[in-house]
Amino acid sequence: MATRTEATPEVGTAADLADRAARSIPGGVNSPVRAFRSVGLPPVFAESARGSQVHASGGRTYIDYIGSWGPMILGHAHPEIVEAVVRAAERGTSFGLATQEEVLFAEEIRAAVPSMDRVRLVSSGTEATMSAIRLARAATGRDVVVKFDGCYHGHADGLLVAAGSGAATFGVPDSPGVPRAYAACTAVAPFNDLPALARLFEARGEEIAAVIVEPVAGNMGCVPPGEGFLHGLRDLCRSTGALLILDEVMTGFRLAYGGAQELYGLTPDLTCLGKIVGGGLPLAAYGGRADLMDRVSPAGPVYQAGTLSGNPLAVAAGRAMLRLLREEGVYARLEEASAFLEAALLAEIPADVPARLQRVGSMLTLFFRREPVVDFATARASDLGAFRAFYGAMLDQGILLPPSQFEAWFVSLAHSHDDLSRTAQAAGRALARLPRDG
Ligand SMILES: *Cc1c(COP(=O)(O)O)cnc(C)c1O
Repeated sequence: MATRTEATPEVGTAADLADRAARSIPGGVNSPVRAFRSVGLPPVFAESARGSQVHASGGRTYIDYIGSWGPMILGHAHPEIVEAVVRAAERGTSFGLATQEEVLFAEEIRAAVPSMDRVRLVSSGTEATMSAIRLARAATGRDVVVKFDGCYHGHADGLLVAAGSGAATFGVPDSPGVPRAYAACTAVAPFNDLPALARLFEARGEEIAAVIVEPVAGNMGCVPPGEGFLHGLRDLCRSTGALLILDEVMTGFRLAYGGAQELYGLTPDLTCLGKIVGGGLPLAAYGGRADLMDRVSPAGPVYQAGTLSGNPLAVAAGRAMLRLLREEGVYARLEEASAFLEAALLAEIPADVPARLQRVGSMLTLFFRREPVVDFATARASDLGAFRAFYGAMLDQGILLPPSQFEAWFVSLAHSHDDLSRTAQAAGRALARLPRDG
C-alpha cells in the first residue's frame, strides 16, 4: 500500500524520474507512445515549451516536431491562446450549463467545415469517433464498421481491432480486453485498396453501417490517399447506404482551414475533429448532416453526454486558435515552411541510404524504405533499426521527432527557417552514420 509522503521537488536525473514514474503510472506514462519504447530510449519529460521549442527536465532544449501530436500548429504557448484560457478561467472553469461561447464556437466550426450542419463537442478524439459510430449504427440499423489497417481512431473497443487473416475480413481484437464479439463488428481493409473494399461490400454490404477513414493517414506515418481513393470510398458508401465518417482529428484545421475535405473536395456524412480544434486543451467534436445529428440526444434518441463537454477553457482556447488560423496567408506560410523542410531534407538524404520522405502539407514522415508507402503493410516493411539509429542521432542533436517510424512529424507556424535548416543539417549528419545499401 502506498504511504503518504511529501512530494520531493527535485527528483534527480531523467532516468531517476522515469523509474519513479513507473512506480506510480503504468509504464511511467499517461499515453503509451510517450514512453519512447519503440526507439529504445528513456522518455523525455517536458517542463515547458514555447514556439518551436520544448524545454525538457534535465535542462535540454529541443526543436519539436511532436507538437503535442498535432494541436500545436501555431507553436507552443501561443500568447493569444494562453491569454484566452486565463481570461476564461477567471470566469469559471466549468459550469455544466450551456454557454454563449460554445454556440459561437459551433457556428465557427460549421463555417469552417460546411459538411457539418450540426456539431457536438466532446473531450477527446476517441469520444468523437466512438460517438459518430454509435450514431451511424443507429441511423442505418446496421452493426458493422469498416476501418483501414494502420489507421488509428482512438482506443474505443470496436476500433482496437486488427485485420484477421485474409484481406478485408472480420477483425480480431488488437488488445486484451476487447471482446471478440465487438471486434467481429469491425471489418478491416487495406488502406488505398478500393478493389478490396468493393469485395468486402459485395460480401457484407447489407451489414455495413459506416466506413471510417483518416483522409490522409497519419497514424502509420504520413500516407496520402491514392488518386481516386477517397472519392471511390464516397461512391461506394453512397451506393450501398453506408455512411462515410471522415476522421479529421489529425487533418482538421491542419491540411486546410476546412481540413482534408476542403483539400480533396469531399463531402462526408459525418466528421470527427480533435487536436487543433481544442487549441491544446482537451476538446474534440463530431458532426455532420442535420438529419443524422438530429438523432443525437436530446434532439433524438441516440445517447451521448459529457460532464466536461464544451468546457469553457477548452472552448476559449479553440476559439482563439480558429481566429488565428483565419488570418490571411496562414496556410500558405505553413505550406511554404513545410516545403522548405522537405527540400532541405531531400538534399541531405545520401543516394545510397534507403529512405523516402512522404509529405502532405505540414505532415511528413521519413520512412526507411525506398519504395512508396501506400498502406500499413508497406509502412511496416520500413527498416525500423535504421529509424531507431536515426532517431537517437537526431535527439542527440536537439531535434525532437515523434518517437516512432509510424507517426507524422508536424511542422508549425513557429518553426523558423533557421529551425528547419538546422533540422535538415542534423538529419544529414544522422543519415551519414547509418549503414548503407549493398
Ligand atoms: C489522435 C487521433 C485520435 C484520437 O484522439 P484522442 O484525443 O487521442 O482520443 C483519433 N483519430 C485520429 C485520426 C487521431 O490522430
